[in-house]
Amino acid sequence: QCQMGKQTMAIPFHSPARSDTKSYHIHTPQSPIVRNANYAAYGFDEYPLGTNAVVAVISYTGYDMEDAMIINKASYDRGFCHGSVRTTKSVDLNEMHKRGEKERYKFSNAVTVALPKSDEPVENGVRGAAEPVRYETKKYEASLGFDGLPDVGQVLTDQDPLAVVYDESTGKHLIQRYKSSEPAIVEEVRVIGGDSSVVNKPYGRVFIKLRHRRNPVPGDKFSSRHGQKGVMSRLWPAEDMPFSESGITPDILFNPHGFPSRMTIGMLLESMAGKAGAAHGVRQDATPFAFSERHRAVDYFGEQLRTAGYAYHGTETMYSGLYGTEMEVQIFMGVVYYQRLRHMVSDKHQVRANGPINPLTRQPVHGRKIHGGIRLGEMERDALLAHGVAFLVKDRLLRCSDEAKALICTKCGSLLTPCMQTQADALKLPNPKRDAYCRECGDGKAVDVISLPYVFQYLTNELAAMNIKTTISTKPVAA
Ligand SMILES: [Zn+2]
Repeated sequence: QCQMGKQTMAIPFHSPARSDTKSYHIHTPQSPIVRNANYAAYGFDEYPLGTNAVVAVISYTGYDMEDAMIINKASYDRGFCHGSVRTTKSVDLNEMHKRGEKERYKFSNAVTVALPKSDEPVENGVRGAAEPVRYETKKYEASLGFDGLPDVGQVLTDQDPLAVVYDESTGKHLIQRYKSSEPAIVEEVRVIGGDSSVVNKPYGRVFIKLRHRRNPVPGDKFSSRHGQKGVMSRLWPAEDMPFSESGITPDILFNPHGFPSRMTIGMLLESMAGKAGAAHGVRQDATPFAFSERHRAVDYFGEQLRTAGYAYHGTETMYSGLYGTEMEVQIFMGVVYYQRLRHMVSDKHQVRANGPINPLTRQPVHGRKIHGGIRLGEMERDALLAHGVAFLVKDRLLRCSDEAKALICTKCGSLLTPCMQTQADALKLPNPKRDAYCRECGDGKAVDVISLPYVFQYLTNELAAMNIKTTISTKPVAA
């Protein structure tokens, strides 16, 4: 929990005052029912970090395999674990200036244009000569204010202007754009630097805080306070969720296979304690070592559950949400405090078919931000071959990577000697009709085009530079 507390989406301590690069906020937090003695002393309720969720320990539909969990769609609609991410973009004029250069940039979106003169009156043969020249100030970028900055509350999508900087030496406007596939809302615009006591000393830096909506989607991570973390696999419609005798549908379906090997008895106890606390309207003390062999926690909370009209061990008869039939076994259901962790799929997913490549090797670059590829290594290749999908291996390692066409002389097996004929060469050669010819064999009879990874061609060239000859033996294949 100590490690996980740091990954939890909650209420940042200094939230309004600071311009953090990234901060996570939860919108609908609750105070936990089950808490220890120090909870109030540390004032944790000022910064709550989770939700009291009704959790049923049941394997349902198969969408909760391998630490996945099913979340009730209706709970989601009511705001369960909704949150947002705040990022700060900075535009720094001082960074734009070169060292020792005179200050030439300032934030401005204004363009002054001279209005066309009216036709009348004509004086000395010149139209409107006596008329004073009138100017109008227009916006360079319509979506931003005259100060070159966005409005608070403005929605930004990819490539929308974020700030406009005016270059006084060239008279041109430079636009800083918002680059992200995710839409954002301007939360705050903060100007830094500048000096109001000095005339014409404009601010040199702007922090623009943006808010991104991050409501739970399948693939997001959640956790109880016992290290029982899981990934939400599906938002399940409430009408198809299992329901109890009293008609309660759980918020979360938790797979029972998560318990035996991890032995998180604390979560079972919290479930019972939370349920009893919710039924009686009391907060439960979960300070460690408060119970003993004689005075057991199970009995303490079990007794509370019984007086509230529930089964002693926190189990309930449940009905299938799909068929309405009673389930044969009693289902353990209770209230557990759940947190939402900051690992979200929208930050992690990665897709690529063809994209940016390394100019030297023509292999795909890596890195999610620059739309790179994911390495398919030797072991991955072995795994694919073991499945008997050789064409997929070819597709991954050649088609989607660095496939190139190259000339090869099938007679001498060299990639280096074939070349395209120049016009002068064509006249000298005995068979000038062929386009390519082999410089070693002297003709182009055996030259053919093959497809190969570009890095291999590159390797051949590097080896040739070290005086190592590479030959390839080829044979024709049926077309
Ligand atoms: Zn040859």
